[in-house]
Amino acid sequence: MSRRGEASGGDLSRVGKGGRPALLAANWKMNPTTAAEAAELARGILDSAREHAAAVETAIFPPFPWLVAVAGMIKGAPVGLGAQDSYWERAGAFTGEVSAAMLQGWCQWLIAGHSERRAYFGETDEMVSRKAAAGLAVGLQVIVCVGEPEGTFAAGRTADYVSRQVRRGLDGCTSEDARSLVVAYEPIWAIGTGRSADPEHACETMRLVRSVVTEVLGDEAASLARVLYGGSVNAQNVASYVELPPCDGCLVGGASLKPDEFSAMIQVVAEVYKTA
Ligand code: PEP
Repeated sequence: MSRRGEASGGDLSRVGKGGRPALLAANWKMNPTTAAEAAELARGILDSAREHAAAVETAIFPPFPWLVAVAGMIKGAPVGLGAQDSYWERAGAFTGEVSAAMLQGWCQWLIAGHSERRAYFGETDEMVSRKAAAGLAVGLQVIVCVGEPEGTFAAGRTADYVSRQVRRGLDGCTSEDARSLVVAYEPIWAIGTGRSADPEHACETMRLVRSVVTEVLGDEAASLARVLYGGSVNAQNVASYVELPPCDGCLVGGASLKPDEFSAMIQVVAEVYKTA
């Protein structure tokens, strides 16, 4: 029996695990550098996203300046659009910031607390929770990122570290937010390094994430929230994560900048969900 069979069995292509559809999310980070390239990148995944839309939900996260061009390119296609960050105030004297409210109409998604924002821009768990809550309050679906640094992993302290991040990051969420909430477990040492986490470690930590989400939001609500793995996922290894019972999909960085590879990943996830 496949490990995924333990989760719910049968054809999961429409219902996903426990009623949660598979999600493949593309974090483009600070790429590409022109609007034309961004539109081209989005265009490159449309065929695969359309073909497998019944089995896999796809969402792309371009940099702010390309959101409008990309929104035009994917109009009418089964591809969600999201921002990689936003600020929790609606408007005001916050030079350089973009509010969650401003994303309404363009975006359906928001990432909060990516480890690069935590490491390079000083985001704390408290800031992450305010960003997540602000996004949810204006009707966005929010991916809250968590994950341990290398030293914490090496010291065997991943569970404490990640539990704390989840508890604090969801501080401003209620059970009503669960359907719009995704927690992405992304070990920092696996992001952009080519050193993807051992599926056993990813599985154990995603189970832990779900148990903390359950503790915070309650049993019934938590069953609606999705848990992803992220960190050097590509077309070759994506199946080994989405096959895991606690995994509802992946957050993808580098490989999402290659339309052929990301299209292949959508197909692989669809196949895993159809044959489980
Ligand atoms: C990410 O940016 O969230 C990520 C997982 O990056 P990569 O796939 O390149 O490791």
